[in-house]
Amino acid sequence: MKLQKTIETVLAPPPPHMVGDGFRVHSFFPDNGLIGKKRMSPFFLLDYNALMDFSPRKEPRGVGVHPHRGFETVTIAYHGRIAHHDSAGNSGIIGEGEVQWMTAASGLLHKEYHEAEFSRQGGPFQMVQLWVNLPAKYKTVAPKYQELSVDKLVRVPLPDDKGEVEVIAGSYANAKGAASTFTPMHVYNLRLKKGARLDLDLPAHYNTGMLIVAGEANINGSSVPADHFILFKNDGEMVNIEASADAVILVLSGEPIDEPIAQYGPFLMNTWEEVEQAITDVNAGKYGILEE
Ligand code: MN
Repeated sequence: MKLQKTIETVLAPPPPHMVGDGFRVHSFFPDNGLIGKKRMSPFFLLDYNALMDFSPRKEPRGVGVHPHRGFETVTIAYHGRIAHHDSAGNSGIIGEGEVQWMTAASGLLHKEYHEAEFSRQGGPFQMVQLWVNLPAKYKTVAPKYQELSVDKLVRVPLPDDKGEVEVIAGSYANAKGAASTFTPMHVYNLRLKKGARLDLDLPAHYNTGMLIVAGEANINGSSVPADHFILFKNDGEMVNIEASADAVILVLSGEPIDEPIAQYGPFLMNTWEEVEQAITDVNAGKYGILEE
């Protein structure tokens, strides 16, 4: 019989801050004093825009041109739509229920805004942005996108019509997620109906946490409300989940990357020399050009 992971801490959403004028985020990690830069590795950052209403506006809210280097950004849209453009000429829309897995790696410039029509209409908005670190040997690969539209996301139905496990990356049961990753990890959205019960097998040495995106659940017997994040100790191989209401739960579990971290703003490297180089390269126009 598999041992349950011990809950290390349950975090209420920290006070929100704005990213540009389009994203009102609770940063669960890193640097909230409880979960440090390596504690959830390979996941470096979790920004959560809890469910809220944006008023209609002609000029879309968002965050203007900025660089990234050395990692991946994963944007999960639960409500609302986001438009993006980058310095390689790529652009697209992340619609409701969709996931964008962007490998910034060697570096790019991009901007992220509310999609024009969503902005004009306003309405409910809820999203997650996750930063996934890359090991040194992959920090210099070329940027790429994985657009995981609703039809590409893999779903495993639970018995008795109690919901489903949406496998974004890694695998669940015998189903493999649509996203390819550079290091081993499991990323799921559990979409559960009230009364759903399941055991998730997740290796003890994987750093593991869950965000309750909607509803409420008993996790290893502890009741956890919406918008809270649960961090597990690295001591068991299984988590028991019982949905006490209809619930959506984002599951993050991955093999730690055991390398030094040097992070400054949107650069996530191994050494400070690499961070300085990243800034020098931005100023030299090496990430390309993108108009505001
Ligand atoms: Mn960005």
